[in-house]
Amino acid sequence: MPMNRIQFQPGLSLPAFLEQFGAETHGETALERARWPEGFRCPHCGEAGHDVLRQRGRKTFQCQCCRVQTALIAGTVFQSTPLVLTLWFLAIYLISQVKTGLSALALKRHLGVSYPTA
Ligand SMILES: [Zn+2]
Repeated sequence: MPMNRIQFQPGLSLPAFLEQFGAETHGETALERARWPEGFRCPHCGEAGHDVLRQRGRKTFQCQCCRVQTALIAGTVFQSTPLVLTLWFLAIYLISQVKTGLSALALKRHLGVSYPTA
């Protein structure tokens, strides 16, 4: 019988996930690389020169040319979320690792968030 390659995908173990995305800075780095694979570019003027700020704990880039500030999560699915990226990445990991689906109640219990948040 032929082997189903989908079932035998290598996947990502929980220890490997925690090593790669377990800290807020890891999630920020991953998101930054996904948004700007060749480094930050100002969405307003296109310049690369920038300063990094922290506003309410969120990583924000300020263009050195036009001074426009761009939050790392602005324009992404994480925009306006009060949750830390670590929690979002953990939710994505949990949802993507189960073969049978994950209920909102189970996700709520795993993450320690409210049911509507889950
Ligand atoms: Zn700019």
